[in-house]
Amino acid sequence: MAHCIFCKIIEGEIPCHKVYEDDRTLAFHDINPKAPMHVVVIPKKHIANIMQASEDAQLLKDMACAVTEVAKALGVQDSGFRTVTNTGEGGGQSVDHFHFHVLAGKTFGEDFG
Ligand code: AMP
Ligand code: ZN
Repeated sequence: MAHCIFCKIIEGEIPCHKVYEDDRTLAFHDINPKAPMHVVVIPKKHIANIMQASEDAQLLKDMACAVTEVAKALGVQDSGFRTVTNTGEGGGQSVDHFHFHVLAGKTFGEDFG
């Protein structure tokens, strides 16, 4: 049984509001949205963060494709959106399963907080 919360979502042990899914990725609405639209995109393979993805070209491509599909599903592929990944405590990462946040539905400024 998975112990990581995102692995539990992948395995269906915890429900999610799905936006996109394929063989290698899953995207769902963030439970605590930080923008009018806030989707989390995850690889189905458990890795901790972007550093662990640095030698996995296929996984990074899959994640980019999933972000693109999410943007289309949200209807923001032309208007634009923000993609963020947090790494470690200093980066504000609270779930140690690599993910992109896709934030949309407002105009973002230069401030990254
Ligand atoms: P981070 O803090 O960058 O690791 O992002 C983790 C994100 O996962 C946060 O924005 C949380 O709100 C979100 N999150 C945690 N648990 C769930 C869940 N069960 N369903 C959807 N989103 C979640
Ligand atoms: Zn996991």
